Amino acid sequence: MSKANTHIAVVGGGIGGLTAAALLQRAGYTCTIYEQAPAFRRIGAGISFGPNATRVFYSMGLGRTMLAVGLQPSITVNSEWDTGRAFNVMQTPELGRRYGAPFVTFHRGALHDMLLSAVKPNTIQLGKKLVGLEERGGSEIKLSFEDGTHASADVLIGADGLNSVVRGAIFELEPPKYFGRVAYRSILPRRVLEGLELLDANRWWGPDRYAVAYFMSEARDELNVAALTPEAWDEPDFSPVVADLTRMRAAFGGFNRTLRELLARCTEVSRWPILTRPSSLPWSRGCITLLGDACHAMPPLTGQGGGMAVEDAAMLVRCLEHYGGEDVKPALQLYEKSRFQRITRTHEASQTHELGRGDTDQEWLYGYDVLSVPLAN
Ligand SMILES: Cc1cc2nc3c(=O)[nH]c(=O)nc-3n(C[C@H](O)[C@H](O)[C@H](O)COP(=O)(O)OP(=O)(O)OC[C@H]3O[C@@H](n4cnc5c(N)ncnc54)[C@H](O)[C@@H]3O)c2cc1C
Repeated sequence: MSKANTHIAVVGGGIGGLTAAALLQRAGYTCTIYEQAPAFRRIGAGISFGPNATRVFYSMGLGRTMLAVGLQPSITVNSEWDTGRAFNVMQTPELGRRYGAPFVTFHRGALHDMLLSAVKPNTIQLGKKLVGLEERGGSEIKLSFEDGTHASADVLIGADGLNSVVRGAIFELEPPKYFGRVAYRSILPRRVLEGLELLDANRWWGPDRYAVAYFMSEARDELNVAALTPEAWDEPDFSPVVADLTRMRAAFGGFNRTLRELLARCTEVSRWPILTRPSSLPWSRGCITLLGDACHAMPPLTGQGGGMAVEDAAMLVRCLEHYGGEDVKPALQLYEKSRFQRITRTHEASQTHELGRGDTDQEWLYGYDVLSVPLAN
């Protein structure tokens, strides 16, 4: 199989799928993204990326765009939950100077548009929900979609998130586990923030729950709020629901005045179950592999689930290139071997608050350069 005539199908046009497609195209591969959504809609939430992920965005030619559509916070303040005492104040641009790439917050919609701008026109087919796949003789993989249509590919990347159909087709799909916490999420317009003492990025850490609030663009016109707390998940399935505001405010009732006031001003709030899937190999079979939440969903306590999907995409393309784009099966084996240790460590760290509080060494996380780290033996 030569690189020029290898067709790669990416299932899922989320963070990992778009990053993979953009990097594949830059390396000269032909690829198509099959996305189940009939249209992309702007998800009302923020997301942050550390230098470990933003250096990949630079390699995609998105350095300027990233800083134009997102925000490099000027300051991040960690505070005690009850007194509001600041205990770890970071000049966030310092991370950029130290690690050669910035820490950036985005509105998820802006991030998605940015990643979309990095793939060639007509790369994405919308309304294509994968329902089955079949490995035929030779290297052909047949994809079947819910609308009754089919497609074929030489290589298949499952970037289809937590309930990955690709994963279910090549391995057993054990359901994700509930992490015992929910996230209340809201976006507040600047006009309702009057009188609140808020900096670019704010975090309040309680013994078993925490909240973050950060702006997402230079205009600082919208504030992303996410508050995580232990709670039973009492809904019929794991889809996010409209939050009960009284319950949310009661869960943070003992927090300091600024956070309580902030939550009092949130009127449109969604409630998300925090789900996790332990990372275990294998991720690949034949010419099919997985990336991102499809193989290792993690709680957001370190804010790295999306970052790991971005790193996966970069490593996957490096490994294909290592074999000249011709020998796909060993390239996919190399990919998962080269990623596993990194994912395992980040997954473990994401079970605790320590890294998010900035209390422990962040060097291993932010200093990691997926574009140059040695490949596995
Ligand atoms: C409260 C919360 C806060 C978070 N904060 C952060 C943060 O600050 N930083 C960070 O890095 N991460 C964060 N994360 C994690 C991050 O959102 C995920 O890890 C990330 O979205 C995973 O990317 P992905 O591309 O693997 O999957 P997804 O983003 O889930 O994308 C999967 C795509 O596949 C599509 N799809 C699914 N099934 C099919 C199918 N059968 N056929 C076709 N298409 C399909 C979906 O529609 C979707 O577009 C947070 C998560 C939560 C819950």
